[in-house]
This record gives sequence, C-alpha cells and structure tokens, in this order.
Amino acid sequence: MAKRLDNKERVAQVRARLLEWYSRHRRDLPWRRTRDPYAIWVSEIMLQQTRVAVVVERYREFMRRFPTVFALASVPEQEVLAQWSGLGYYRRARMLHKAAQAVVAAGKGSMPGTAAELRSLPGVGVYTAAAIASISYDEPIATVDGNVERVLCRVAGWDANGEHTRKLDDLAGRLVDPDRPGDFNQAMMELGATVCLPRSPRCLLCPLAEFCKTRGEHKTAPRARSVNREVGYALCLRPGQSGAGADLDLGEVLLEQRPQTVSLMPGLWELPSLLEVPNGDGRMTVRHAIVNVNYIVRIRDVHEEELAQLAVKGGEQRWVRLDDVEGLALTGLTRKVLSRVNSTSHAIPRTVFPESARNYRASCFSQVSSRKRGRPPRSIHVMPYRHSDLEFSRDEFVRPAAFRAARDTSKCRNCHSRHCSDVHAGAAFGCS
Ligand code: SF4
Repeated sequence: MAKRLDNKERVAQVRARLLEWYSRHRRDLPWRRTRDPYAIWVSEIMLQQTRVAVVVERYREFMRRFPTVFALASVPEQEVLAQWSGLGYYRRARMLHKAAQAVVAAGKGSMPGTAAELRSLPGVGVYTAAAIASISYDEPIATVDGNVERVLCRVAGWDANGEHTRKLDDLAGRLVDPDRPGDFNQAMMELGATVCLPRSPRCLLCPLAEFCKTRGEHKTAPRARSVNREVGYALCLRPGQSGAGADLDLGEVLLEQRPQTVSLMPGLWELPSLLEVPNGDGRMTVRHAIVNVNYIVRIRDVHEEELAQLAVKGGEQRWVRLDDVEGLALTGLTRKVLSRVNSTSHAIPRTVFPESARNYRASCFSQVSSRKRGRPPRSIHVMPYRHSDLEFSRDEFVRPAAFRAARDTSKCRNCHSRHCSDVHAGAAFGCS
C-alpha cells in the first residue's frame, strides 16, 4: 500500500529521498555545472523534443560559439540556424535568437530575474521560465515537463488522459523543495528520464516507490501511427572552381534555399527536390524521421544541365564548396546526405560532420585490415592524414595520385619501411 502524500511529513520524506538519490545518481551534464541563466536557457531550449545524448555535444559547440547573450544577439539569424543545423525544430533557434535580441535591446545587460519576467521573452513558456528561475535564481517554483508529468501521474495513480493538468500543477507545487528548488526539479526530470521510463519503469531502483500508487506503466493515450513517405532529391556535384584548396579538387554541391514563406524550415538550405522519386538504383537511400513521418529518401546524381527538367522549381540556388557547407543553415536531412557523400568521396570536412570522421576512420581501418589479410583494399582514394613523413597537415586531404606518389617515396619514422604507411595509418595515426 503506497503512503499517501497528504501531510507535510510525507512531503518532506519525498523531498529528502529524491534529493539524496539525485546527489548519488545524477548524470554529469555540461549545463549542470553552471547556474548562468543564459546557459540554462540554451540547454532547456535544446532539450525540448531532443534526446540528451544528441544535445550534449551540440550544446558545448553552441556555447563555444555564442558564450553570452550578447554574442548570440549580435549575429544574423542564418548563423544561429547554421549552428543549430541537425537539431531540428528550427523555430526554437529563431525564437532563442529573437529573445536574445530582446534581452540586449532592453539594455539591462542581464537576463530577466524571475519566472514571470522570463515568460515575456519570445519562445519562453511556463516550463522553460520555471526551469531557469528555479535553477539559476532558486525561485521556489515547480517545472512539469513530459518526464515529470509521467512520474507524478504514476505516483498519484492517475491516467495520462489530460484531465489532471490542474491537479498535476498543484501536486508538483506542493512537492517542490523551497530550499533547493533547482535541484528538486532536476531530480524529478532525472528520475523520469532514467528510472520512471515510459516503458518498463525500473521501480525496484526508484526512491519514490514507497509513495507510488502505480509501480509500473500507467494508462496512456495510444500513440499516433507513423507513416512512410518516399521523396527524391538531386545530388548535383561538380569539381571545385576556385578558392583556397581548389587544387585539392574538393568539389562543390548545388544547394537550394527554402523560401521564407513556407511554414516548415523557412530559409534553410537543402538539395533540390526531384519531380519524380527515383527507383532504388540512385546514388543512395537515406531514412529520415520527422515527428511521425518516416521518410525514405532516394538521392540521385543529376548533372547540372538536366536539373531544370528533373527538379522542382524552388528558391535561390547556390554552388557551395563541400568544405564550406558548415557556414550554411542546412536541413537535418541535407546534413545527413552530405555527411555520407563526404565519407565516401575524397573530400571530408570532418570539422563539419563528426560522423563523417567516424565513417572515414572506419573506412581506413577496413582498408588496413584488408591489406593485412592479403586482400586488395575496397578503396584507396582516401588515406590517412597525420603521417608526418608525408607532410600532410591535419586538415588537408590528398588525391589518390598525390598520395600514391608520396607513399612510394617516403619512409615511415616508426619502422623505416617504405610501404608501412597503410598499417601505421590504422595503428599509430588514429584511424582505428
Ligand atoms: S515506483 Fe515505478 S512507477 Fe512509481 S514513480 Fe517509481 S519508477 Fe515510476
């Protein structure tokens, strides 16, 4: 029989158990090392609709690029969108940018100091304002996100049918610890994210099990069915035309900007959309999910001259060097496709696409393994870049001919052999 939360003593027990559990089991996340309201704000916006594992690195990059509200407010929106690229739900980034400009325009030089004031900023709702105010300013106010709602519904023995919104707010407000509201709110969120999971909650590990009326899954509304949709995009590539590194033939890709008038991802850059979805023999097929639509995306190589007949007439088009695409606000799908293009071509802007670097390293490793096993390599057009004897700088890439010429006339410093670079590429130069 679960203990009822109907007196102050029980509420105090819940607070103490939860905070004690949190102090021992909390994950070490970058936004938990600060109480800077701007940093908390950025993390809360990024975490909306996005998993923690995806956000961690993107949050660090964002904070490196825009360490203060002034830094964020001072750049054009396209730069913020470019930094946000791949996280999806771009309206969040637009609102964040707009709100940063509002803070700076207010001339105070600092963020609003209460939840009520924070709510006046564009894109800051009840939940975000409460999270910032409780964590940064110790304002005793409860936060109720999806995770907390699930925990509270289960503890109280309610179905998740939307009828309990007012009761949920009351219960959350009663439970929040007035002395440590920020920690308490984060503890509730952490419990929902790591223990009181949507499916198969880990009740044996739960600090609130003694007070919980459900101890298991509670009744929820059926999820919307996901649907499959096939779409086609044109991959239009050409050799590099000009600029630094053109001698390395990095190549350019044709991108198109979505009109500002569309409701979905206005202003973002993507591959030109094809009139007809190509069949399975295109360049590649990529799967990409947005909300409950699973897109099966067929990518076809299209020559510049045939593009006008095959593609939908869209917004402004621009040729962009493959190693310059980082400066553009790409759609998540375009980012995904270009990362694959780069991982299988001679040009790999690894600073842009960390996943490319991983694929690239895997590719090197498989070449090395093949050679060790006496089999011909699957491909030889990309080779390691940190071999000091070959004098490649970390961010330079070589064409096959350049590589082969260099390899044939060089000795390795490690084993003094002319032909070891294949092996040492994997073992000693970070490709494994
Ligand atoms: S006992 Fe189980 S269902 Fe109840 S709050 Fe804890 S994890 Fe969730």
